[in-house]
Amino acid sequence: MPQARAYTIAVLAGDGIGVEVMPPALRCLEAAAKRFGFQMNFRHYDWGSCTYYNKHGTMVPSDWKELLQACDAIYFGAVGDPATVPDHISLWGSILLFRREFDQYINLRPCRLVPGVTSPLANREGRDIDFVTVRENTEGEYSSIGGRIFSGTERETVIQNTVFTRVGVDRVVRYAFELARSRPAKRLTSATKSNGISITMPYWDERVETIGKEYPDVKVDKYHIDILCAHFVQRPHIFDVVVGSNLLGDILSDLGPACTGTIGIAPSANLNPTAKREDPNWCPSLFEPVHGSAPDIAGKGIANPVGMIWAGQMMLEHLGEKEAANAMMLAIENVLKEGREAQLRGEGDLLTPDMLGNGTTEGLGLAIEKAIEAVS
Ligand code: ATP
Ligand code: MG
Repeated sequence: MPQARAYTIAVLAGDGIGVEVMPPALRCLEAAAKRFGFQMNFRHYDWGSCTYYNKHGTMVPSDWKELLQACDAIYFGAVGDPATVPDHISLWGSILLFRREFDQYINLRPCRLVPGVTSPLANREGRDIDFVTVRENTEGEYSSIGGRIFSGTERETVIQNTVFTRVGVDRVVRYAFELARSRPAKRLTSATKSNGISITMPYWDERVETIGKEYPDVKVDKYHIDILCAHFVQRPHIFDVVVGSNLLGDILSDLGPACTGTIGIAPSANLNPTAKREDPNWCPSLFEPVHGSAPDIAGKGIANPVGMIWAGQMMLEHLGEKEAANAMMLAIENVLKEGREAQLRGEGDLLTPDMLGNGTTEGLGLAIEKAIEAVS
């Protein structure tokens, strides 16, 4: 008998609303697994969170790396409790640590206006927003190379270097071209600032141009980051795949999801797409919602679970479960659309408050779970 496909997933719910959106998202994944004949084995860990830090004085246990490497992927809620732990400790002790140690060099965020979600930017020139941001996740402007000299004097000088390596730039640019090639519009936009940053950014442009020659079927253009941000707001529907360095990509990958209505529905993947499972130094990829721990609404049961569920959908796609991933996406879209229609009829109890409804995390999560079970 053929073995059922099975995946081991490290589940780190984290802090704040991470703990609230995780359970409904796991139920959605379980429903998809059951419906499409594979197994999800969840390993729950309470570390990678400020709750753990406040008990143990560290963000992760000493064997965190082996524990995560024993899994096919990492499913991460949200980290942060600025009232008790400074952000630089919680971030560098969890998500940024995993990103660096597992060389998750791609940060991928779909920015799509889902039916039923309202956005002031919707439907410009008759087309809806549907693009993906690809951010370089390991080098560039976020190198820690630099320092201060003449501190505390009139001559105080501070320098931080940008590092672009050929390997680092090429792998993210190539990934973006491949992604563009796989999508109907086949269009790649590169974010740059080579008119102001005169050494590193022209190199980025040069690599995009060189690699672009291998992809004659992909239309390429480049915009300086300032005008690109303006276009994201004024004409978001013209974009398809947008690639940027660590800093420029960071800016765009928050602005992009914000263009599509609410931060509560946006998913994110930190990928090492070339890692091999059989490699002893295997680097799992990580899937998380774009939003953070949202201390302002934590504990109220009203956080939107869609970002977490959609991140799970990206995880299934990454694991190769395309059919289940498609079904999950369809379920999310159908439920949001129905929720919006109900809201327009004055029955607003499905969508959560960030989508102008009176719904709850549990209620919206359950509706998506049922919709996954019902996909034919
Ligand atoms: P981080 O620093 O971890 O990126 P943050 O503190 O910048 O996070 P969030 O925690 O994402 O930001 O919260 C920003 C705002 O968005 C808050 O007002 C929060 O309530 C709201 N928000 C975030 N996620 C959700 C969600 N899933 N549902 C509803 N509102 C949300
Ligand atoms: Mg924060």
